[in-house]
Amino acid sequence: HPSSNYRGRFAPSPTGPLHFGSLVAALASFLDARKNNGIWLVRIEDIDPLREAPGASSDILRTLESHHLFWDETVRYQSQQSSAYESLIEQLKQSGHTYYCPCSRKTLNKNNGSHSSECNPQHPDALKPMAIRFHTKERTYTWNDLLLGQQSFLANKQTDDFVIKRKEGFYSYQLAVVCDDIDQRITHIVRGSDLLDSTPAQLALYDALATSPPLFGHIPIIVNNRGQKLSKQNLAPSINTPRISQNLQHALAALNHPLPPLLSGASAEEIIAWAIQNWSLNRVPKSLSIQGGWHTTSE
Ligand code: GLU
Repeated sequence: HPSSNYRGRFAPSPTGPLHFGSLVAALASFLDARKNNGIWLVRIEDIDPLREAPGASSDILRTLESHHLFWDETVRYQSQQSSAYESLIEQLKQSGHTYYCPCSRKTLNKNNGSHSSECNPQHPDALKPMAIRFHTKERTYTWNDLLLGQQSFLANKQTDDFVIKRKEGFYSYQLAVVCDDIDQRITHIVRGSDLLDSTPAQLALYDALATSPPLFGHIPIIVNNRGQKLSKQNLAPSINTPRISQNLQHALAALNHPLPPLLSGASAEEIIAWAIQNWSLNRVPKSLSIQGGWHTTSE
């Protein structure tokens, strides 16, 4: 029973099973919500069928449950939210924040970021497939990061006229994440620092929608001993379920919350209870990445 209005979430893209890096992100957002007597939601960000791995969504959910990361309310699937995304795009279009754009990344690079004369706030009659982009003003976006403190990013046209709907018809991450974070009344977003440079784009959307943004906290991402982010692409091993307690212990250590020796060998339930009690976001390393992984840490 929450006694605060804190609402947090973990929002994985189902591109593969949960790996150590995503367990750390899930755990941090979960612990921060629970420590603050808040609600914690899980949202499956399945907006890109081409990047989706069959079975990944249910695999991720099962892994969260087996690690005693139990969510509130029902899991939301972004693949079922198309009509909400369409009406948000319509709203942005009406308020003059969008334009149709046939430019590919390649032609934009070639033209130093200048758009084609075919770009138009109204859908041109051309038969070409068009993306819809957000029309960014050149300005600085700032926020007080829950972990990293004051952040400031200069947005300019070249970097930040981001796509909100792709020419293939898929909705972009930036659009979908803001739409759902608003609709689900999310107040606190604790996520990996790989998304740090998405935050200004998201702030631009909140601004255009005249909605106040949630608070953001960016935790370090886990990299392997070659400095690469753990991901399916570099074959990060998926979480080994029989070793749940060890996985949690290693994830907590990565977040600078080492388990007291007394609790070594404790159950997942006991470890999670200890972690909620002892959680402090301030203790998490204020760096963009840290080396780790359950497979590289000695027992
Ligand atoms: N779905 C995004 C990802 O897995 C994360 C979204 C977010 O936390 O804002 O990278």
